[in-house]
Amino acid sequence: MAEAVTTRRFTPEAGCSRCTTLDMARRHAKAIHDRSAETDARVLIRQHMHRDHGTVLEAGWT
Ligand SMILES: [Zn+2]
Repeated sequence: MAEAVTTRRFTPEAGCSRCTTLDMARRHAKAIHDRSAETDARVLIRQHMHRDHGTVLEAGWT
């Protein structure tokens, strides 16, 4: 089993619509200073990256 990749930098996977959608939601929430929506998007991105791309985002990732 491959070891999980750990990173502090979120990079949407090329061609992954889920990454693109979640990243847009996070950026939009940040732009309008919607903290709770931003937190929700971060949680979903973290889960998605782990589950679908085998990448673990460290606390404080950007
Ligand atoms: Zn993805």
